Amino acid sequence: MIRSSMARLAPVLALALGLAGLASAQPAPDAEPLPFALKQIGPGVYAAIDGPEGKSGSNAGFVIGDDGVLVVDSFWDPNSTKALVAEIHKLTPKPIRWVVNTHYHLDHTGGDAVLREAGAEIIAHRNVRTWIHSGNVHLLGGDKITPAFKAQVDALVTPDLVTDKDLSVWLGGRRIDIRTVEGHTGGDLVVSVPDAKVLFCGDMLWRRFPPNIIDGTVPKWIASVKGFERLPGAASMTFVPGHGDVANLQDVKDFDAYLTDLTAIVKAKRAKGLKGEDLVKAAMPELRAKYKDWPYLDRSAPREIRYMEQELAGTKVKPIPAGD
Ligand SMILES: [Zn+2]
Repeated sequence: MIRSSMARLAPVLALALGLAGLASAQPAPDAEPLPFALKQIGPGVYAAIDGPEGKSGSNAGFVIGDDGVLVVDSFWDPNSTKALVAEIHKLTPKPIRWVVNTHYHLDHTGGDAVLREAGAEIIAHRNVRTWIHSGNVHLLGGDKITPAFKAQVDALVTPDLVTDKDLSVWLGGRRIDIRTVEGHTGGDLVVSVPDAKVLFCGDMLWRRFPPNIIDGTVPKWIASVKGFERLPGAASMTFVPGHGDVANLQDVKDFDAYLTDLTAIVKAKRAKGLKGEDLVKAAMPELRAKYKDWPYLDRSAPREIRYMEQELAGTKVKPIPAGD
């Protein structure tokens, strides 16, 4: 029941979050394959990559340490989170101790309650506590949010442990580094597994997907992504994006180039006095010429061009950090 109502809502959510892949989600029978692809990317390190139908809503992942498991992000669809918990239990008897939310967006926090139920404490940037409810209402249409989405947002749980600084979590002898980064929402974390050369990037990285920049501060975002490119050993690292398949350094550079090109193209059109739909019409062919092989470009980029226009005009409404 929950699954079929989720599937019915998927196209609406897809529009709201700019996740074109969700738009094709269909109700599925009970006995179905996993809604994500589980990929081992290091010793005890797994990426859960959302399937082509976008049923999970985003990517997630987990790390098995000496004395427990740390999960990164919890998907949008709690049924996917339950499937993830089952997969973890198949791989290890160790307890699920932590989940790290890379940011507040519903497609990465929707299954937090499932993970808490499974034993995890929720770690997030301190702004996530402030934004998890109000920010997701804004993200899903503000006053126009549907009752079903409002109910799902209201039911989101708040994080247990918040930070605005880097921190390390030790799973026995295995160190996981959680780093604060800037650019996507104003409350972003990435999760590094140094011994496996893996960086879980959340929505700081999208692979061959036009990113959702609704809350973004794109110059800071580009600077953060360039920081990923300069990490020691970046050429042999594995990067897990928030959307799209497991990435390598070239994918990170392509994403950096996309954000840079989007900025430059919209800036140039604004300099010619173009606005709104006229600006989108003028900008799309240039974006398409460079990124025509990105599957969701035509569907997602027009909206992102408008957000870039707002950012350059100084009119973008971003979530505001507040006290706890
Ligand atoms: Zn996302």
